[in-house]
Amino acid sequence: MKEELQNKLAENFPFMIGRNVFTGKIIYDKNGKTSGAYCECHDGWFQLIYDCCKEIKESYEKNGYDITIDTIMPFQIKEKYGTLNMYFNCSEEAHAIISKYEDMSETVCEFCGEDGKLRNMSGWYKTLCENCFIEKNKIY
Ligand SMILES: [Zn+2]
Repeated sequence: MKEELQNKLAENFPFMIGRNVFTGKIIYDKNGKTSGAYCECHDGWFQLIYDCCKEIKESYEKNGYDITIDTIMPFQIKEKYGTLNMYFNCSEEAHAIISKYEDMSETVCEFCGEDGKLRNMSGWYKTLCENCFIEKNKIY
C-alpha cells in the first residue's frame, strides 16, 4: 500500500504507527520521523482497513478499555489467497471486528476499492472488480 495511505491510518489511529513487531518499539527513520504500519496489500483495501480501525477504536471506547500502542498492536496486515488478513494483538471484541472486515474483503477490489469478487486466475487468487480483472489478465 502507498506510504501516504499507511501514514494516513497512523495519523487517524495512533496504534497504526510503524513498529518493530518483535519488540513493539516505534520505528524512527534517520530524520526521527515515524510512519504508518506496513500494509502488504494494494490501495483498494485502504477504506476497509480504515473502517476496521475506526470500529476497533469505538469498541475499545464502548468497553472502557485504554487505547494505547500497547493495548492495540497490528503485527501483520497482508493479502493472502486473495483476501485481507490482519493480525493484531487486541481485545476479543476487536478480533471479531477484524474477522468481519477480512470477510468483507472478498467483495472489494484490492486494486481500486470497487465492488469485486474472489477470482481464481490459474491458481492465483485475487479479489478484483471486472475492470481490474481484465486489466490484470492482460499483464499476467
Ligand atoms: Zn478494481
